[in-house]
Amino acid sequence: MKYSLIADAYEKIEATTKRLEMTDLLVDILKKTPKDIIDKVAYLTQGRIYPEFVALEIGVAEKLAVKALARASGKRESEIEEDLKTIGDLGETVQKFMAKKGQVTFFQQPLTVQRVYEILDKMAKTSGSGAVDLKMALLAGLLADATPKEAKYIVRSVTGNLRLGIADMTVLDALAIAYGGGKETREHIERAYNISSDLGRVAKTVAEKGLEGIKKFEVSIDEPIRPMLAERLSSPEEILEKLGGKCMAEYKYDGERIQAHKKGSGVVLFSRRLENISSQYPDAVELVKEYVKAETAILEAECVAIDSDTGEMRPFQELMHRRRKYGIREAMEEYPVSLYIFDALYVDGKDLTLKTYPIRRRALETTVKESNSVKVAKHIIADNVEELEKFFLEAIGEGCEGLVCKSIAKDSIYQAGARGWLWIKYKRDYKSEMTDTVDLVVVGAFHGRGKRAGTYGALLLAAYNPENDTFETVTKCGTGFTDEDLSRLPKMMHKHIITRKHPRINSTIEADVWFEPAAVIEILGAEITLSPIHTCAIDSIRKGSGLAIRFPRFTGNYRLDKAAEDATTASEIVEIYQKQLKKISEN
Ligand code: ATP
Repeated sequence: MKYSLIADAYEKIEATTKRLEMTDLLVDILKKTPKDIIDKVAYLTQGRIYPEFVALEIGVAEKLAVKALARASGKRESEIEEDLKTIGDLGETVQKFMAKKGQVTFFQQPLTVQRVYEILDKMAKTSGSGAVDLKMALLAGLLADATPKEAKYIVRSVTGNLRLGIADMTVLDALAIAYGGGKETREHIERAYNISSDLGRVAKTVAEKGLEGIKKFEVSIDEPIRPMLAERLSSPEEILEKLGGKCMAEYKYDGERIQAHKKGSGVVLFSRRLENISSQYPDAVELVKEYVKAETAILEAECVAIDSDTGEMRPFQELMHRRRKYGIREAMEEYPVSLYIFDALYVDGKDLTLKTYPIRRRALETTVKESNSVKVAKHIIADNVEELEKFFLEAIGEGCEGLVCKSIAKDSIYQAGARGWLWIKYKRDYKSEMTDTVDLVVVGAFHGRGKRAGTYGALLLAAYNPENDTFETVTKCGTGFTDEDLSRLPKMMHKHIITRKHPRINSTIEADVWFEPAAVIEILGAEITLSPIHTCAIDSIRKGSGLAIRFPRFTGNYRLDKAAEDATTASEIVEIYQKQLKKISEN
């Protein structure tokens, strides 16, 4: 398959902001792709060469790309850098310089997708001394054989700047249309994706084996299952009513969510964002090896920092000391952890994701040998309000955030990748409205003035709307940032800067700087009001109005553990708004 087909498709996708058009373009390219390389094409559209959970990155810095371009185009590095400074977009500079170089030799073979992929793969796997030179040579070789347009997209891919704005869900739609038999088959393809997180494997299965093949798609150890998430309510009455009068209530431990995959003596830990975090938690890896009896298993646990003197749980923030590359052994001693296991998704060859929660819980209890550091999440079966309230206070008393109340009904399956009403969280701070924090996506920024010149004066923040897969602005926040935050923010956000508003951002406000939706920060607001300018949940309360958070303040908490899609949703903001109104009318 010619790489030029891909480059043409990218160009068209980039030019549209409409999701339907984007889907059609994807359908077209997926249909043109030979089935045996469709997985590779699926990864490439996401600016990757492997599924997200594989940590290998191509890892070419801008400087290195400039060197490769100099070699491929025969121009001086300084000249290229000069141009880059004015244009500000490496892809454009590459296209320009490759066009200046003129036509490639007459006998030139057109670049194929296979060759591009192979070389990118080689670059990603190159490490150790001499890796930088080798990467540069590989890239220069590829550029020399590419057309200017191809070169632009190759360089964007290797530097991690492809950013076509295609959400995984759009690729699933396109696969359903191209190979599933129609958009209505998307739920099966989506499930396959939710239990594997591997867009490439899903694409290949549906392309080669059709809908029947994808229906038989199975959980596989070492591929993270996308986490099931909880809805929230603020009273035990509402929770019991929603769960049919009876539920399993569990402590909501305040730590980091971990999905442990065990195969014999091999254990891999994935974070809530599906990153492999095994190297951060060698102690947790050992705990799983020692205390999980099953030969193969996928279990979910909350990993909690523990005070080694008292054995008490410490707050979530303490775990941040464990997010590091070096000095892990020291951090392990200073911040030891315990595991509280709360779900079993796969045990000894059996996929349990479609089983009810009581069945999964039983599997969990039989396979986990409890110890000081490994426990099954504390629970009760509750059918009355007093009991639930008492258990809630007990949980708070032990340093937990509250409860997660879980359905034990016939349909209480593990809803991979979905936030639903089978799990409902009940947290202490929901009791007084807007003392509750929300997690919002940084989508834009405004230049600072005076004391804040050279950094950001305020950030434009958005909630996530999963229905449209968009980010809707809800507030502008300039309060709560320390001097350290202010100097850190531009550096932290630099890699997310884009030249124009991202197609998934819904905003009527013009920011000075736009970001791709990636960074999530925690905000505490005073109240939520109707707003004529913000787009969050627009039209849902009153026509023409969105919702805005007033008097927002950054809490100091960068939610590095959350992806943009894990941010507070627009409908959650509506719920908080309605609850606040209810309270006002009750008083
Ligand atoms: P939060 O910021 O409230 O943790 P979240 O978006 O990360 O929210 P939710 O699904 O809304 O996640 O809330 C459930 C979270 O609570 C899980 O992601 C998990 O990390 C944590 N948790 C702690 N104890 C339990 C438990 N017993 N069962 C399920 N989840 C638990």
